[in-house]
Amino acid sequence: MIPPKFEYFAPTSLQEAVSLLAGYGEEAKLLAGGQSLLALMKLRLASPKYLIDLGRIGDLNYIREEGGRIAIGALTTYSQIKRSHLLQSKCALLPQTATWVGDVQIRNRGTLGGSLAHADPAGDMPAAILALDAELKAVGPQGQRWIQAEEFFLTTFTTALAPDEILTEIRVPVLNGQKTAYLKSAPRPSDFAVVGVAVRLQAGQNGTCEEIAIGITGVTDRAYRAKGVEKALKGKKLEPQAVQEAASTVTQGVEVNENIHASRNLRAHLARLFVARAIQAAR
Ligand SMILES: Cc1cc2nc3c(=O)[nH]c(=O)nc-3n(C[C@H](O)[C@H](O)[C@H](O)COP(=O)(O)OP(=O)(O)OC[C@H]3O[C@@H](n4cnc5c(N)ncnc54)[C@H](O)[C@@H]3O)c2cc1C
Repeated sequence: MIPPKFEYFAPTSLQEAVSLLAGYGEEAKLLAGGQSLLALMKLRLASPKYLIDLGRIGDLNYIREEGGRIAIGALTTYSQIKRSHLLQSKCALLPQTATWVGDVQIRNRGTLGGSLAHADPAGDMPAAILALDAELKAVGPQGQRWIQAEEFFLTTFTTALAPDEILTEIRVPVLNGQKTAYLKSAPRPSDFAVVGVAVRLQAGQNGTCEEIAIGITGVTDRAYRAKGVEKALKGKKLEPQAVQEAASTVTQGVEVNENIHASRNLRAHLARLFVARAIQAAR
């Protein structure tokens, strides 16, 4: 399929990209890795008149430690995240999660910023970003602001970014001794998640849960934090029975999706199962 005609811009600085986006407004779209947007354009589900390619803005692609946190440029690809020694040693949840995204071609082009801004309710990275309590930097004509991960995902394909803002950086913590895991249930390994669960866990020597954060994807209209499960486990011993009981609350208060891949009941069942498994995997 061929997309409708559009005018193409390739700014070389963030300032230039911000000006173009402000100038063309809602008729313009930012292009990062193109792994979602180009498919939507070819299917004619999106037909922006102006395409602003972020790919030539070199200073949006980095992974570095800064002030006790790790800063990741929005244009950093899944493959770069997967291979990063800094992330593997200090924030392994991101490489663990990136490994599960699509196949190698998608991971070589798709970007962390694009994945988060796109806010696919079955995208993998949003679950990890939530479990990490990440902070996201948005830059627009009014300047810059930071958005907490929990406030970022609003609903399907909708985030807290204003139409004239560009997501430029994601900051995640250095995980001193905390354990992590990402598990995903999908029809095939390269498919979107039916259910995806990201866990960050601080367990005491006697197996007590000192701190836990759980990000869920694939289950409802957006990725969310399983606060009920976290509350039920904090301060408790992570015995299988306690974990299972806590995991059983994961879809409470959530409208569970239903589609050709899983009925509502199956998806809720998988969510409970994968929460329990991901907690044990993190331990
Ligand atoms: C065959 C296939 C399989 C896939 N499998 C998976 C999978 O298993 N798991 C998964 O999570 N994803 C999967 N994806 C989607 C993939 O992860 C996309 O790369 C990702 O969703 C979008 O990132 P991108 O960099 O390609 O963004 P683009 O496609 O370029 O852009 C996506 C949207 O985000 C906006 N945007 C991009 N960057 C920014 C920015 N910095 N600031 C503000 N807005 C921005 C764009 O305007 C656009 O609306 C798959 C895609 C394909 C084609």
